[in-house]
Amino acid sequence: MEKSWRLKLDRAEQHLQDLHAEVTKYAEGHHYKAVRIVAGPTCKQHVECWRYHLRITEQPDPLLGIISGDFLFDARSALDHMAAALVPPRRRSHSGFPIETEPIWTKVNRRYVVRDPNGRRRFKTKTTGMALGAVAVIKAVQPNNDPALAPVGGLALLSRLNNADKHRQFITYSAGLGDVEVRVTIRGQSMKIPLSQPVQGPPFISDGAEIAHFWLDRQGLLESEINVRVVGTPVIAIRVIESTRKEKWAGYMDIELLFETVVEHIRDGIFPYLEPFVWRPGV
Ligand SMILES: [Zn+2]
Repeated sequence: MEKSWRLKLDRAEQHLQDLHAEVTKYAEGHHYKAVRIVAGPTCKQHVECWRYHLRITEQPDPLLGIISGDFLFDARSALDHMAAALVPPRRRSHSGFPIETEPIWTKVNRRYVVRDPNGRRRFKTKTTGMALGAVAVIKAVQPNNDPALAPVGGLALLSRLNNADKHRQFITYSAGLGDVEVRVTIRGQSMKIPLSQPVQGPPFISDGAEIAHFWLDRQGLLESEINVRVVGTPVIAIRVIESTRKEKWAGYMDIELLFETVVEHIRDGIFPYLEPFVWRPGV
């Protein structure tokens, strides 16, 4: 088929548009509010103070997970279609676009750093029949070329998330709030107050996080006389690294941004370098 890899990627981009529509719909629904914290450990700084946390009142539609799965599948198979076009027809059923997250080709003192030869075997099976130049490109774009970024690199994530989806594991996504601003109105007097804790890294403040903490001179205020309003941009993030106790949200990325980056990388950073090596009879 004529440039089927490009058609597959176009299809992935269409899913991205559907995803964008879902995310926009969710954001417009304003499913969040500030809720006063009454239970839990009390503040040790003040005798009486006011603390509020962010509450996400409704999670995104599960359809979002389905669309994400479709996107991942088509983006991943765009790469496999590209690989199939690089080999002679008799090799097509064995071909594929390898994505290895371990540095399988790195050598120290002429020996491979990664002992396990399976990755190299898989890589060779998938690329047998390709022009040497094409294999060099595929090796160059492997996620392990930058070990520090390997677990979050676009291709590694694409491979991992697509595998998770195929095996019907959940792609964990979570709603939060970006560009957060908290406004407090006390007996009709409005003021903007600083967030009680910094935004937890990109991209957002998560459900349940404390967003306001203040103490007032005036005693005897009723809760009904105080209005705390939070505004921000709802963000839907996908878990890309398992959370640790220390950095609970470090492993989340904005789902749209992540997927757009993956598409761009494949379209502009991989295809143009492999297309000159598309197999032609008699060449
Ligand atoms: Zn306090």
